[in-house]
Amino acid sequence: MNTEKQNILIYLEQLKYLAIRSHYSCEDTFYSCPKSSEGCCNESKGNECDCGVDDHNKEVEKTYEGIKQLLENILDKNYKIRKIIK
Ligand SMILES: [Zn+2]
Repeated sequence: MNTEKQNILIYLEQLKYLAIRSHYSCEDTFYSCPKSSEGCCNESKGNECDCGVDDHNKEVEKTYEGIKQLLENILDKNYKIRKIIK
């Protein structure tokens, strides 16, 4: 089993969860993002995110998937090479 690969992917996933943000939430929910956990009492804002977190989290997910794929390819190649050398 390739434990090096597993460990790197676990760290990468932890990094992703640390980078993911929550929607803006204010004590006065009039100013909160409509997608925040408490919601927004200003109905004129609609239901879409207006705090930028959806865009941010999409970038986090895209970057995570890109790095994960590249790392998996590199680590799989290294693992095969090391098995051949042994
Ligand atoms: Zn938001």
